[in-house]
Amino acid sequence: MAKLTVRDLDVRGKRVFMRVDYNVPMEEKDGQMAITDTTRIVETLPTLKLLIEKGARIILAAHLGRPKGKREATMSLRPVGFKLHELLGVPVEFADDCIGAHAEKIKSSLKDGQVALLENVRYYNEEEANDPAFAEKLAQNVDLYVNDAFGAAHRAHASTEGVARVIAKRGGKCAAGLLMERELKFLGDELENPARPFVVILGGAKVSDKIKVIDRLLEKANTILIGGAMAYTFKLAHGEKVGKSLVEPDHKQTALNAEAKAKKLGVNFQLPTDVIVATAVNTGKLNKKGKPVMDFTNIHTVKGSIPDDAEGFSIGEETARHYANIIAGAKTILWNGPMGMFEDARFAAGTNTVAQAVAEATQKHGAKSIIGGGDSVKALNKAKLGDKVTFMSTGGGASLEFLEGAVLPGVAALSDK
Ligand code: ADP
Ligand code: MG
Repeated sequence: MAKLTVRDLDVRGKRVFMRVDYNVPMEEKDGQMAITDTTRIVETLPTLKLLIEKGARIILAAHLGRPKGKREATMSLRPVGFKLHELLGVPVEFADDCIGAHAEKIKSSLKDGQVALLENVRYYNEEEANDPAFAEKLAQNVDLYVNDAFGAAHRAHASTEGVARVIAKRGGKCAAGLLMERELKFLGDELENPARPFVVILGGAKVSDKIKVIDRLLEKANTILIGGAMAYTFKLAHGEKVGKSLVEPDHKQTALNAEAKAKKLGVNFQLPTDVIVATAVNTGKLNKKGKPVMDFTNIHTVKGSIPDDAEGFSIGEETARHYANIIAGAKTILWNGPMGMFEDARFAAGTNTVAQAVAEATQKHGAKSIIGGGDSVKALNKAKLGDKVTFMSTGGGASLEFLEGAVLPGVAALSDK
């Protein structure tokens, strides 16, 4: 069912509690926390500008990191407040506690078009527990609810779900922000009746992570292209040798079932015909996180069996070209999961060829291309093609759950149109 959006709300003079995803990456610099990537803040600006223009009194709530119910100074949202002020061009009041007297004072003093940011909601365990009394406190002195945090919508927490329920119960409206609206449009509506051919590209590490998505998309797609480590579980299920590749032996049957379903539904289900393999060697060094640093020797392409001492790290060139040809004819493309371990340049070519094909289909043939999944978005940005596709989800885990067809609690709590 279509959800109310900020466009539908009459907000003038009203206090709007707006949940945003300001879980930005930070680094300590000269004893202070500095934001290293402001994307998530920038993405909320259109909704904020619209609300300001419409005369709302905006109270922003967000979480940062995992403070586990304690006031962790390194996880304060104060630097986000400063950055937001800079990017938005209007002052942003900061409440150093998301509930209580100071927050209430700020809420009461807001004038039309003014903005306040509340301190990290996860300073309270009640946030993740979706504690009703805590939700009541957050909702105090608030008239309307807006959720622009798609990336947190798969969790039923107090600020993503509980507050909306409290406000709705009082007769207040709960709406999607513009960013949330776009996510629901591209990951939802656009895929309900896609222009055809509809080509789905699925990769990433595990079949088990993606099986629900495969299962659901088998019912919609014309073609499914499989890549990434997930392909090796299919290989294993066919009785082929996979060497030391990342596989899930417990999911051999899952893989076979997916193929059988594809056959039954007439979906063109493609598996890689060549693989880039390498032998991993421990360098004896540890990285910053204390994990062993691996190096790779004897990198080469194989068709068929993977040698016992080798491990698959990407689709090969033949597969990549074959997939690119199919993608060139697509009218709708959904991509979730990289085609290989793209983080290492030696295994990025297959992912990059596919990314290039998706960008070209979009730019030259007017295909609609939708990218879901945190690492897929990273891969596209790394290839500098992020702005050449129709839509990149900001959702990470939430986009995967949404593509599986799950009802996200943060979306369910919004008012229907
Ligand atoms: P997304 O975040 O887009 O949903 P996933 O999290 O499912 O994607 O998978 C991404 C990860 O899978 C990447 O870190 C990538 O290195 C890894 N990966 C992909 N192919 C392989 C492979 N052949 N071997 C090992 N890891 C792989
Ligand atoms: Mg991922």
